[in-house]
Amino acid sequence: PLVYLNGEMTALSEAKIPVLDRGFIFGDGVYEVIPIYGRRMFRAKQHMARLFRSLDAIAIPNPHELDAWMRLIAQVVDAHPAEDQMVYLQVTRGVAKRGHAFPKEVKPTVFIMTNPLVLPSAEVRERGIACVSMDDKRWLHCEIKSVSLLGNVLAAQYAAESGATETIQFRDGFLTEGSSSNVWIAKNGVLAGPPKDNLILEGIRYGLIEELCAQCGIELQARRIAREEVFAADEVMLTSATKEIVPVSSLDGKPIGNGAPGPIYRTLHEAYQAAKAAA
Ligand code: PMP
Repeated sequence: PLVYLNGEMTALSEAKIPVLDRGFIFGDGVYEVIPIYGRRMFRAKQHMARLFRSLDAIAIPNPHELDAWMRLIAQVVDAHPAEDQMVYLQVTRGVAKRGHAFPKEVKPTVFIMTNPLVLPSAEVRERGIACVSMDDKRWLHCEIKSVSLLGNVLAAQYAAESGATETIQFRDGFLTEGSSSNVWIAKNGVLAGPPKDNLILEGIRYGLIEELCAQCGIELQARRIAREEVFAADEVMLTSATKEIVPVSSLDGKPIGNGAPGPIYRTLHEAYQAAKAAA
């Protein structure tokens, strides 16, 4: 499989960036992860819109028009044998003498790679995943899909060390999100997720869940969710490009609901699969 770096397709092992790249020095860049089903991007428009918002938010000039982006991504996808893939795309501010403020006239670094998409197994979906909780210690611009991911890295490591799959974060006692997923709770047939604000990354699946809920006649509330509500929920579930939608069976060792995947999860998972098939 080949990767794209600054205008060239090369082997991953041959792809090199200078040590003064601001992505390396400052984490000064943004990224996207896009699922590919049957060699086609799923929710391409939404992913590219989010990339453009992230670039805008940190004033990195967008190096390509939408059409050119789509061609570059297709080039990388076409060069990979897998039918289902996850594209990773990163743009940094570029290479410049080290100094915190933006350098003048640098060219952004653009990197695109792809890997096989490995979805949660049927067994994981039947059993649900164990999660742990943690205070959200990240900065206040979580809506930007920045490569500065130290807070997310530490949250994910906490899950790994706890023998859990994902860490669910709370800020001032209210639910924010996972280390790399959005979190939803169901109570009495109503689904709720945290508001789309600066405290969470608005997953591309956030909009999809809105659509699927409308389709399935499930009431969806976007509102602040207290920590106690998560523990008392009938169901908790996570969404992300690579997890699609997965049920949470326990949080900090305490079962969620009866500890098994519930009806809202099952309905939304089925609707998700139908949305993929129809795309
Ligand atoms: N929040 C965070 C912090 C994430 O890293 C991700 C994964 N990209 C998500 C939410 C879910 O976003 P998406 O549905 O676009 O994968």
